[in-house]
Amino acid sequence: MSRDQQRPAPPGAHEATELPLAGRESHDAPSAEVAVKLVAALDRLARALRQHRQGAASKLGITPLQAEVLRTLYEGPPPEAVVGLLARELGVTQPTVTDSVNALVRKGLVARSTMQGDRRRTRLELTGAGHDLVATLTAAESELIAAVAGMGATSQETAYVSLLELIARFVDTGHIEVARTCLTCRYLGGTPEAGRHCLLLDMPLPDPALRVNCPEHEPRPA
Ligand code: SF4
Repeated sequence: MSRDQQRPAPPGAHEATELPLAGRESHDAPSAEVAVKLVAALDRLARALRQHRQGAASKLGITPLQAEVLRTLYEGPPPEAVVGLLARELGVTQPTVTDSVNALVRKGLVARSTMQGDRRRTRLELTGAGHDLVATLTAAESELIAAVAGMGATSQETAYVSLLELIARFVDTGHIEVARTCLTCRYLGGTPEAGRHCLLLDMPLPDPALRVNCPEHEPRPA
């Protein structure tokens, strides 16, 4: 029995011949109602992901943000490995990233080096221990990937494209600042119907090949 089915009926519901739409499950729900449910579903997924990552990070003695900094440094530029750009990438303030980086340096997971030509700027890089720790974090993600892989191939592709479309919309509305996906890239050519392709790399982009974090990405004009 679903949670909605377990709820007590609202007063007067049994006498009414027609219930108001709000609060009811409908097979013909208006798109606004589906949009509300979609945001609720995204919220549930985000919480699950956050809990999983918090658990994995705390087992290794680091915070979730420190784990994000390590992952971002591991993946390499963009962004350039400097505090200001990491802060923008992760959607947090510069002092917050500075605190995380200081802690990672103390733990021997990240090292600072002076940038050539500008001794006032420091670049960050993973140490050997930092690389090992990212490998452990990545292994922890395999449980989530296995759960997704349990969906059929067609469902996975449909969900992937839908999520890329949502990311593009959130970029358009200013709710995501940094996204390097094909659907937000100036080099995306073609159409979903006729087939998409990358104008920069001169390659076809069927749905499974669309990229979620492409180093060659350039934002499409507003
Ligand atoms: S440059 Fe990268 S993100 Fe842009 S369309 Fe080509 S593959 Fe996609």
